[in-house]
Amino acid sequence: MQLEGKVAVITGGGRGIGRSIALAFARQGARVVVAARTRSQLESVCQEVAGFGGKGMAVPCDVTNRTEIEQLVDRTHQEWGAIDILVNNAGIAVSSKTVEMDDDLWEKVLRVNLTAPFYCTKAVLPDMIERRQGRIINIASTAAKVGLRYTAAYTASKHGLLGFTRALALEMVRYNVTVNAICPGWVATDMTFAGAENISEKTGMSKEEALQTLARMCPQNRLMEPDEVAHVAVMLASDEARGITGQAINVDGGAVMF
Ligand code: NAP
Repeated sequence: MQLEGKVAVITGGGRGIGRSIALAFARQGARVVVAARTRSQLESVCQEVAGFGGKGMAVPCDVTNRTEIEQLVDRTHQEWGAIDILVNNAGIAVSSKTVEMDDDLWEKVLRVNLTAPFYCTKAVLPDMIERRQGRIINIASTAAKVGLRYTAAYTASKHGLLGFTRALALEMVRYNVTVNAICPGWVATDMTFAGAENISEKTGMSKEEALQTLARMCPQNRLMEPDEVAHVAVMLASDEARGITGQAINVDGGAVMF
């Protein structure tokens, strides 16, 4: 029970990596608030949490909307008190040649993947600073470290998220608040399956072949599992990880070696 007594907010907690993190945190004793736009998915995660005796709260929220974020934080404070852990996990991926990229789509990717983590972090930080404790975990990507063709907006947003992580980590050092990033490679979630579908449409290869192509980008020749990312999140959220800050931990089967 590494997270006994902690309160954690996980954005994008309704499916994929966020769902796995919510379940893993709850199994370690944390009360988990899951926030995303699709209420049914949030409720389903909370049912799973309740199924093993944990505590989950579903709060529908669009992380690009400052008012909804403030409501999310206020509600958590009212129901469960202070927030110990924030996981900025909500994200979107789009693929396009840069010359053909729609301006609005560029803005949207940056809003969800970079500005929203800033908004959410800003909303929880004053309390963490006052309490001299806190954990911010940003789910970045290997695209925070290397460039990938046709993903300029996503890659720029994740590089930005890593920069945000490092700068904030230094700023928070004296308040005992750690700020870290996890950088997954291709993970077996809806986001990757949609990506494979897109590759399939554009190249004519089958969806299965497209998934294999993505898996081959990993030296272990496989997609990562969401639970593998969740395992690292639990470690970073634990009290024992108080000395780890400003780091960007790859969960990518060796795809990126720095
Ligand atoms: P996913 O299955 O598509 O889940 C994304 C989650 O983000 C959903 O819960 C979604 O919920 C939520 N979300 C999206 N836009 C939102 C918004 N405006 N407000 C609130 N919630 C929003 O994707 P995933 O693979 O689990 O990805 C999770 C994170 O890991 C993302 O940041 C992604 O960039 C990162 N990542 C993924 C991979 C991968 O291969 N899958 C690799 C590296 C990094 P709603 O749509 O219901 O709002």
